[in-house]
Amino acid sequence: RPRSSTQARRARALGAMAATATASSPPAAPAGGARLLFRCQGCAAVLDLTGAPEDAAPSTLVHRADARASPGEPSGAMDESFMVLPAGPRDAPDARAAGAPPPDPRPDARDPDARRTPNSGSPRSSSLHVPSMADSFVVLPRSVSRVDTVSGSNLNARVAALARIFDMASDETEADHPMCLECAAFTRDEIDARAKEAEAECEIHRKCLEELERLRGGETLSDVEAEAARLEFEEREVCEETKSLEDELRVLNAERFSLEEASRALDAEETSYFHEFNEFKALLRTHVCERDGLVTKVEQTNRQLDRLRKTNVFNDAFHIWFDGPFGTVNGFRLGRLPNAPVEWDEINAAWGMACLLLSTMSHAAGVTFEHYTLKPLGSFSKVRENSKGVEYELYGPVNILSSHRYDKAMTGFLSCLKEFAEFARESDLSSPGVDGDVSDGANAFKLPYDIDGDKIDGRKIGFPFNRYERWTAALKITLVDLKACLAWLANQQ
Ligand SMILES: [Zn+2]
Repeated sequence: RPRSSTQARRARALGAMAATATASSPPAAPAGGARLLFRCQGCAAVLDLTGAPEDAAPSTLVHRADARASPGEPSGAMDESFMVLPAGPRDAPDARAAGAPPPDPRPDARDPDARRTPNSGSPRSSSLHVPSMADSFVVLPRSVSRVDTVSGSNLNARVAALARIFDMASDETEADHPMCLECAAFTRDEIDARAKEAEAECEIHRKCLEELERLRGGETLSDVEAEAARLEFEEREVCEETKSLEDELRVLNAERFSLEEASRALDAEETSYFHEFNEFKALLRTHVCERDGLVTKVEQTNRQLDRLRKTNVFNDAFHIWFDGPFGTVNGFRLGRLPNAPVEWDEINAAWGMACLLLSTMSHAAGVTFEHYTLKPLGSFSKVRENSKGVEYELYGPVNILSSHRYDKAMTGFLSCLKEFAEFARESDLSSPGVDGDVSDGANAFKLPYDIDGDKIDGRKIGFPFNRYERWTAALKITLVDLKACLAWLANQQ
């Protein structure tokens, strides 16, 4: 049961007292009309203490209250146990107030702690000028304190005393007072059970303590020393391990430093390498550009070379072509027709060109003419007959007297042309062809028009004084033969 505060208990007791003092007038009231009613703090049952003997002891009063107070039992009245003394010269003011006439004893009931702790010297007590609690309450012998119980003032005093007793009992014990018999028995049983539990716990604790003592006694001193030695050994081992680890750390730190140095060196090397690499790349690019330029130049040069190879200086210098029925050398017509009377200057220039061309070709090919020698002198070229040592003019104008010399000169030219053609044919026959075989003669050089003495392709080249068509045609195929020889020579080169 929870213990209610002193104030609350007092209120309950005083409430009971007030009820008895003012309104309560129960049917079973004894003589005098006043009853002492309290309420059990456990079950709230009403306790009627009216019939309790005045000399009943506080401890027995409670138990006897419900039983309507057996008259024969030796007991004292409550007002006999605690009596408030009248005010005296020795009494402190508080004591005098507490000891005020019986109708109002509450001031005393207000300070139970002060009453219970006499001579404590607490600040509260001293501040109230209470000289001594023993002075406030005096236990008087029964003979001195016999008071009339039926008087109203006596009843109030009894109620107050009982209330104080109950408060004190409540403070001293764990249970609230007053209580009925059933509650008291219940409380007692509970306390007994708790005591048994506590004893059992005490026993268990004692046994545990004995066990602990026994265990502690089992550890001998040698064991402790061995343990200490072992721990010291472990400590030494740990210290040595620490030292070795520190050494290892130093070594590793040194290694780390060296590795960092190496790393820095490698970084520098890498940087320089990349610089070199970039330089080399730039150089390579430049070189590639240069090479491409050179390749392009070589290709251009090769093209030019091919073009130049195909170019024949003789072809350009002595352009042999035709103009209608005339064969032409560099645009100069060779021959004459009735409807086209070519001037002798043009014919002489054409013969001079042809003569110079054949002479140059013979020099280039290394041919020496056997019977005639060409003397290219521009428009006044001549042909020399080697056997006679006579030179014949290859230019006009030509008259009846000089025509045979002109015919001789043209015949000499044909002879030289034929010798060149024979040289070319022999050269082809003696040299391997493109496929490595010696030419069988079918592919060897051969003049388009055969030359035989003063005839070419059966046409006499002699100068006519009237039939110019035959002469012009003969001169034209002569130029064709000459151009064929020129082509052969160009192929040889
Ligand atoms: Zn009760």
